[in-house]
Amino acid sequence: MKAAVFNGTELIVEDVKIPSLTPTQVLIQVKAVGLCGTDLAIVEGNLPTPTPIIIGHEFSGVITKVGAEVESSWIGKRVVSEINSNIDFSCYYCKKEIYTQCISRKAIGIDIDGALADYIAVESYLIHEIPNSLSFNEATFIEPLAAAYQTFEMMPLEEDDNNVVIFGLGKLGLLILQIALLKNLDVIAIDGSNKKLELAKGFGALKLINRLQVKSVAQKIKEYTEGLGADIVIDCTGNPNALIDIVSSCKTRGKIHIKSTHGLGTPINLTDLVVRELTIFTSRCGPFAKAIEGLSKNQINVNKLISEIYQLDNVKEAFESYKKNRDLIKIIINI
Ligand SMILES: [Zn+2]
Repeated sequence: MKAAVFNGTELIVEDVKIPSLTPTQVLIQVKAVGLCGTDLAIVEGNLPTPTPIIIGHEFSGVITKVGAEVESSWIGKRVVSEINSNIDFSCYYCKKEIYTQCISRKAIGIDIDGALADYIAVESYLIHEIPNSLSFNEATFIEPLAAAYQTFEMMPLEEDDNNVVIFGLGKLGLLILQIALLKNLDVIAIDGSNKKLELAKGFGALKLINRLQVKSVAQKIKEYTEGLGADIVIDCTGNPNALIDIVSSCKTRGKIHIKSTHGLGTPINLTDLVVRELTIFTSRCGPFAKAIEGLSKNQINVNKLISEIYQLDNVKEAFESYKKNRDLIKIIINI
């Protein structure tokens, strides 16, 4: 089969063996894969992985074969898969049913082979069936949408939380923005791309800030929040420099939520955090069932987030485009 393999220095589309199944796995014929910042970080050498590795973890497809211990009725089902594999079901976190933090977990497309290939073998406990109303391309958003829902699972809203600032309007930022609007929060959206800001406005963001066109982002946010700063500030930028503005634009006793997982090595002003009693939340993988429901009920629009679609053979071109284009939100690879 064809697969996009990262060999430690570059990404190559090559012929590899179709994975064989253990008794508890299913074989998925991959139909669509969404590219994300993690994939880019791997390809650029900024996120160490075992190599060679097939990358890709936001995917959808059809089950074509099942292992000996898996119900054969799964064959032919349209599915998506969670990414935290190799769960031991016995560790401290598993006993608490926090499987995404299992101490034995390995992430698909990061620690073990992923989905940018004709086929992928996946543990059956990771599989979720998707309704026929969802296209394979739409279904690639289920994994990031679950992560977006997790933002509010880890940071329950309180009565005083009326507004939220979202820094960074990539895929994750625009998914969280839609969920925040469903929760009746006033949204202030920040990005350097007018195209993304327009999209945020279309979804219902109340205020827009082009960070490249204002002197001080934090000052602008204070103007919009009666001089106080925002109740909640969410970082979806992946840009370490944004953290300075993120801290200073949060109100005293406000909430900061970090979603970015890369490049945040910059020192932050801890004194300001302590003196103003800010709380930092973080979150990552989330509830797939909720994401599937949100998409199925048309509460969340993902089609507006699809920027470009490529075939597997052109995956290198896709990454080039991803790196270059500031207006780009989501690239999908069809297989
Ligand atoms: Zn475990």
